[in-house]
Amino acid sequence: MIETSTMPLLRKTIEISGIVQGVGFRPFVYRLANQCTLSGFIANTPAGVTIEIEGSPERIEEFLTRLPQEIPPLARLSALNAREIDPQLESTFRILSTRLDQPASALISPDIAVCDDCLREMSNPRDRRFRYPFINCTNCGPRFTIIRDIPYDRACTSMNAFKMCAACQSEYDDPADRRFHAQPNACWDCGPQLQLLSADGNLIDIAEPIREAARLLQQGSILAIKGLGGFHLACNAKNTAAVELLRARKHRIEKPFAIMVPHLDFAQKLCHVDELSAKQLRSIQRPIVLLPARPDADLPAGIAPANRFLGVFLPYTPLHHLLFTIGKFEALVMTSGNLSEEPLAIENQEAVQRLHGIADAFLIHNREILRRCDDSVMRISAGVPQQLRRARGFVPVPVAIETESQPILAVGGELKNTICVIRGAEAFLSQHIGDLENLESYKFFNEAVAHLHRILEVQPTIIAHDLHPDYFSTKWALEREGVERVPVQHHHAHIAACMAENHLDGQVIGIALDGTGYGTDDAIWGGEILVANYDGFERAAHLQYVPLPGGAAAIHEPWRMAVSYLARNFGNELLSLGIPFVKEIDQRKLLLVLQMMQREIHSPRSSSCGRLFDAVAALIGLRGTVTYEAQAAIELEMAAHESTDEGAYPFDLLKEGSLWKIGTHSLFDWLIADIRKQAGIPDMARRFHHGVALVLADVAAKIRDERSLNRVCLSGGCFQNVLLFEFLLHALRQQNFEVHFHTEVPTGDGGLSLGQALVAAHRIRANPISPQTSGSP
Ligand SMILES: [Zn+2]
Ligand SMILES: [Zn+2]
Ligand SMILES: [Zn+2]
Repeated sequence: MIETSTMPLLRKTIEISGIVQGVGFRPFVYRLANQCTLSGFIANTPAGVTIEIEGSPERIEEFLTRLPQEIPPLARLSALNAREIDPQLESTFRILSTRLDQPASALISPDIAVCDDCLREMSNPRDRRFRYPFINCTNCGPRFTIIRDIPYDRACTSMNAFKMCAACQSEYDDPADRRFHAQPNACWDCGPQLQLLSADGNLIDIAEPIREAARLLQQGSILAIKGLGGFHLACNAKNTAAVELLRARKHRIEKPFAIMVPHLDFAQKLCHVDELSAKQLRSIQRPIVLLPARPDADLPAGIAPANRFLGVFLPYTPLHHLLFTIGKFEALVMTSGNLSEEPLAIENQEAVQRLHGIADAFLIHNREILRRCDDSVMRISAGVPQQLRRARGFVPVPVAIETESQPILAVGGELKNTICVIRGAEAFLSQHIGDLENLESYKFFNEAVAHLHRILEVQPTIIAHDLHPDYFSTKWALEREGVERVPVQHHHAHIAACMAENHLDGQVIGIALDGTGYGTDDAIWGGEILVANYDGFERAAHLQYVPLPGGAAAIHEPWRMAVSYLARNFGNELLSLGIPFVKEIDQRKLLLVLQMMQREIHSPRSSSCGRLFDAVAALIGLRGTVTYEAQAAIELEMAAHESTDEGAYPFDLLKEGSLWKIGTHSLFDWLIADIRKQAGIPDMARRFHHGVALVLADVAAKIRDERSLNRVCLSGGCFQNVLLFEFLLHALRQQNFEVHFHTEVPTGDGGLSLGQALVAAHRIRANPISPQTSGSP
């Protein structure tokens, strides 16, 4: 059962008229609501603003008292009317970027999970859409993924291939009907249909493809299933052999699989589901939610090896619901229909070709997917929902920003790429595009750029990009003609993204932690504390540089990083440390790596935080090589969760000029001592996490003293590590910092494009024709 809070909850809607637009009113209300720990939203209306707030009666009272007393200097209230409405159990307060008076058709909606009304009809044998896998209405169904062009009406979607029957047409034309102007409206007589194909793509002539598909899954087969934004590869999650077969065929050795369960009850059997997670699972966006697995969860170990979290989601298309109803599955593996990091297959023939040899059969349909869109991934951390991959259900909803700007395109980073277009005071982030180093993703990137320009009706002549000269996104930006380019440093973009989504302006202390980002000194940065605003930044502190022996090879082989850190801290003595890591390592490889670093061959300098995590994971014996990105760091975190030790390893702080350097000599001394004492891996992992958090909070405090700044922004892929994030948040709050982090936008490189766009908007505004902001970095 879900635990429900016993605290009385109130929600009020407040209409305010007066001078409340263009005077910083929305951010003011946003901050006030957060200070009063209220959820809800604020949106502009023709007369002023509408606010909805939700929380305890006392906090709402406080909000209503303070609001008129604390309004921004230029704001004037002429009327304020509040009344009570039903609570909606929201968890955050948001600034809605759309005006409430805008017709819904002006904005393109994301894809929305099938609604309860449609599900009821679908399960009613007397309904004309009984078991129709494409049932939808104005409140649910595909949107973004079927759009070719604007305006959003049927002719501009992939539904234009289907002519509505008389019954569907009359629903569509009737303003009183639930399907009034529902563009994908369809039924058995006139709409899309399912088909089942064999492994070789031949039609299996069968009356009920879905029943046969369910039977194949029950037998342990692997099916490719066409969904909303692309194909999934599915198998029965309870069948160990099927799970292993899928891993082997997909060449996905250890990276966790997401599983779809029929109801919340089934999720609760497998995982601990708190109220907030349950709300995310059931939301109309239906993201994958990462949940702590129950130790007794009855699932094959191959679903999520060495991971205490399971990615779980609920059915969101009518087809998913039918599969569960007919097949009576307790859980299905539903993983992306691709090979390793390529984009999802979306076309029928494409799927048959690309997934050949993986799928035993293909459950397809003839409603074309025009926009590829992965499942979104979320997790609850520090009591707040956080977006890890922002795609289906959320795109193309814009992020409201405080800067009105001419159109800007920001092209993002290299891995987990997204792009962002600013139009007016709205930032439109694309869906997750993926790793641009593969050709298919690069094509997807080009399509996403063209599509976003088309549906937003803009043609930006300002392009923001990363400093890294080898990123495909950077090269793409440099190839455009007749545009002004704004290069933005990677970690500056991370911090700007965090500022943007938290509606901050002015200077902040930005803690940016990730694996790789190109620095202004050609080194690879990743353990950075910046003093930043949108216009620029100063590097205030960083992890001391170590060589990355072999460059990218050091990312795939964390043992190289352990050698690098040992060499840095112990020099030649590392060979006589007498610890298992040094004894067990291939001596020939060890000497090779040491020589590489000594001669500075292919060993770029780096302050990467991700690589420090890798080094520690390898040194304490967790993992010397990885099969997917960040695997060693993830396993280090998982180990640390097993311990309750309260110790923290020390770091060294040195100051050079105005720059703080975080050294690791003490850290490795202590680690080696613990390894010699045969301390437990979980304890060492936890002490390390704790130590990192404490030293960062200490440095932030020193910077606060020097600069009189109290706001801290946390960003970068390392904050996907829940333990690091929660330790640091706690340490900073104990020192009374005002801490901001990501919720709406990914903390990893998926959020970079938003930050790049904001930096460009500010630089262009500050210096409209500056030649310094254009050209190559
Ligand atoms: Zn519906
Ligand atoms: Zn029809
Ligand atoms: Zn990054």
